[in-house]
Amino acid sequence: VKRLHSNVGAELLPRAPVVTVMGHVDHGKTSLLDALRQTSLAAKEAGGITQHIGAFVVRMPSGASITFLDTPGHAAFSAMRARGAAVTDIVVLVVAADDGVMPQTLEAMSHAKAANVPIVVAINKCDKPAANPERVKLQLASEGLLLEEMGGDVQVVQVSATQRIGLNDLEEALLLQSELMELKARIDGPAQAYVVEARIDKGRGPFATAIVKAGTLICGQHVVVGAEWGRIRAIRDMVGKLTEKARPAMPVEIEGLRGLPMAGDDVIVVESEERARMLSAGRKKKLEKDRLQKVGE
Ligand code: GDP
Repeated sequence: VKRLHSNVGAELLPRAPVVTVMGHVDHGKTSLLDALRQTSLAAKEAGGITQHIGAFVVRMPSGASITFLDTPGHAAFSAMRARGAAVTDIVVLVVAADDGVMPQTLEAMSHAKAANVPIVVAINKCDKPAANPERVKLQLASEGLLLEEMGGDVQVVQVSATQRIGLNDLEEALLLQSELMELKARIDGPAQAYVVEARIDKGRGPFATAIVKAGTLICGQHVVVGAEWGRIRAIRDMVGKLTEKARPAMPVEIEGLRGLPMAGDDVIVVESEERARMLSAGRKKKLEKDRLQKVGE
């Protein structure tokens, strides 16, 4: 692919971390995301009303932001990883304080490790009488997680998603982790982005929630998204407001695609419709070839 610009020599600026919530079923991933979403910019701007677009941003009093992927669970993470999408910077590992470490807790740990993504532990349900956070810490440590209070570098925060306790501590821990990682992105030049969710709407056609990793996505640009292509007709922010541009770590909905992409697909900007068509056709051919090969096996 001929890129319009390269990253070489471009100025890099700090960007918000992109965070995924993982953990065992029923340990409170959805509840935690709900609680965090309530603290988000969108919730504040829209008077508490938020729409589900696959990601949301929390802005801290310091002005720093955190982008949360709004799909809990390991399937989404694995699907994205399988497509080579390095979309997540940090994993929040949710462990219920009463239940402790369970099979999917370990699975999440190994996913994060394989992807080389640091973990911040959220011990949830600390409001419960049966909560035993100290036991959870020992369990995690015995599974090889090097917790900060034991001399390692994995932060642990105690929270209650339903009682909304410790959310600010969790957000601060994520920011600290992000500072340590010195996450930076090129702002100028064509965007590189990833799809986190895609749907078809009768009126709007196929649309995708995407997170820009570098550069700036601009309305009107020709794009290839996975094996699909299109010209960006509209960019909307978290509250559905039309915007001209999307910058790094900002989740947006993009409209104008000719087909439905998949979570984890990459978004690249090309210079013309012709190139977009060509690239898309090539990628479709390759997908079909891979599919036939699989069927043949
Ligand atoms: P998920 O499967 O990991 O997404 O878990 P959910 O968010 O669906 O939560 C599972 C159950 O645990 C629900 O009944 C929640 O109300 C409950 N739950 C979640 N967080 C807390 C918490 O902090 N305290 C208590 N007491 N219950 C919680």
